[in-house]
Amino acid sequence: ALLLQDKVAMISGAASARGIGLATARLFAQHGAKVIILDLDEKAAAEAAASIGPEHRGYACNVVDKAACEQAAARAIEDFGHIDILINNAGITQPVKTLEIDPGSWERILDVNLRGVLYLSQAVIPQMKQQQSGSIACMSSVSAQRGGGILGGPHYSAAKAGVLGLAKAMARELGPDNIRVNCVTPGLIQTDISSGKLSDEQKAEIASGIPLNRLGNADEVAGAYLFLASSLSSYITGAVIDVNGGMLI
Ligand code: NAD
Repeated sequence: ALLLQDKVAMISGAASARGIGLATARLFAQHGAKVIILDLDEKAAAEAAASIGPEHRGYACNVVDKAACEQAAARAIEDFGHIDILINNAGITQPVKTLEIDPGSWERILDVNLRGVLYLSQAVIPQMKQQQSGSIACMSSVSAQRGGGILGGPHYSAAKAGVLGLAKAMARELGPDNIRVNCVTPGLIQTDISSGKLSDEQKAEIASGIPLNRLGNADEVAGAYLFLASSLSSYITGAVIDVNGGMLI
């Protein structure tokens, strides 16, 4: 049988053509899941879903808006009857230094990367509790582990480190309901957020410091999400999976 046969998976921040979210949606669909793509724009989300197949859905959902998260979960249950997998993938970055972080940018970066994980999780947990099963995977980053990387600012590192704590706390709390919560911590992955902003020279220099000698691609993060979403990881909760080419060795 396919790894995600008959599963319903909701993925935030998944409309961007070269992004990790859409790569994940495609991979999950290949493994039998019905996917729900959430992103800021309804049309973009619906088109991204349709590009995978007619049985998938795309809804507008700003993860910072609690009511919008609740609405997305309600729509998913209306359309599919259950929600088995949540991928908290939406995120934004801002490459600035400590003294350049103003109150507005602190709020924006913390909101989308961290508050959004809470709100969307809160929206699906009641359904998962009722089902007595569920898998939630959250997007953190190597920036949380090594205090910044190449592109995120200190507020981004703080938000992504916050995701690790939030996910572990939810894993502990929700384990008795058979709901697993895990994180992925990618290194530098070629998407619009990252390599779109780097020159070839910069990329080569970064690659030379990575044991696998290259940047990662979106499908390679999708693979880690697939493992965490499927029953292959049925005894894994509160874990953090590095997808970074060995950057932290
Ligand atoms: P991306 O910009 O292609 O994807 C991010 C998506 O999130 C976009 O589609 C965007 O529209 C959406 N989004 C932004 N704000 C939102 C909001 N408030 N509500 C809902 N959706 C929103 O970039 P990506 O590289 O695919 O990033 C996906 C995740 O991976 C992010 O959380 C990012 O921080 C994280 N990450 C990326 C890298 C990397 O190197 N690319 C490394 C580590 C972690």
